[in-house]
Amino acid sequence: AKQAGGSEVRFFDPQMLAEVEQRFELEQAISRALVADEFMLFYQPQLTEAGQVIAVEALIRWRHPQWGMISPAYFIPLAEESSQIEAIGHWVLQQACLQLQRWQQQPRLADLCISVNISVRQFYQPDFVRLMSDLLARYQVDPAQLTLELTESLVLTDLDDAVHRMQQLKALGLRFAMDDFGTGYSSLSYLSRLPFDEVKIDQHFVRQSEDGEKTRDWAIVEAIIGIANTFGMALVAEGVETEAQRQLLLASGCYCFQGYLFAKPQAVADFESWFSQR
Ligand code: C2E
Ligand code: CA
Ligand code: CA
Ligand code: CA
Repeated sequence: AKQAGGSEVRFFDPQMLAEVEQRFELEQAISRALVADEFMLFYQPQLTEAGQVIAVEALIRWRHPQWGMISPAYFIPLAEESSQIEAIGHWVLQQACLQLQRWQQQPRLADLCISVNISVRQFYQPDFVRLMSDLLARYQVDPAQLTLELTESLVLTDLDDAVHRMQQLKALGLRFAMDDFGTGYSSLSYLSRLPFDEVKIDQHFVRQSEDGEKTRDWAIVEAIIGIANTFGMALVAEGVETEAQRQLLLASGCYCFQGYLFAKPQAVADFESWFSQR
């Protein structure tokens, strides 16, 4: 990383990576980051209407020694272009399983579920099912407490492949959530073919209704809620920042929420103290 006039560069600026060599530098840095233990998981709670925390989403963070915190929105897409995402994804799953095992020791935390984001490339890696079952066995995790979040881009290659792989993983007892649904190119009808347990309403829709007004796009949210109910899938709305949004979601039939209104993603110690003060 460049140093300006002797003063340290505190925050990472993607502009720094506009050049091809810098992009290469970032790829190298990602490879080193796993070994150097620079990644960490943050946890953001999902709450019921009554305010009970039932799950947390695990969100990766990268603390680079020179560049500072780097957003996953920036480095995950880059990692997805190579097999780096398989190594990162495995690390994330292993950390989540370890966390579930630790929480088993603590009565108040023992029932929490963890949702983990899974990249398409990771999902389709040939030994993914075996890797998953090995982790569950190694950490003695109840698979019903682990939810794999997939985006609709998983069906872009082959719907039958996606269904087959999901069924293999469901046979292990794992849950599935459809992340960011309605923002990509797939049609609502895919949901009838794919064995999802849960649908997440994307923050893109929630954000548009900051003041609780129904925008035109809210009809899409209501359609998603209707379809999820028809197929017996749970619903979670993400990016809930205001009480007005929470009320609108409740009125539309979504009773589970994730967002800054309740808590930001936090390091595990911060999450645990937030949780214990409730
Ligand atoms: P996502 O899966 O859609 O995660 C939700 C994002 O929304 C997270 O951003 C979270 O911090 C943010 N968020 C939550 N509540 C609010 C809110 O009320 N307002 C606003 N404005 N934002 C909110 P984050 O942590 O930066 O992650 C960005 C994306 O990076 C994730 O989007 C996911 O696609 C990806 N990602 C994160 N961790 C992992 C991982 O471990 N593996 C993979 N493959 N992807 C990951
Ligand atoms: Ca997610
Ligand atoms: Ca999402
Ligand atoms: Ca998203």
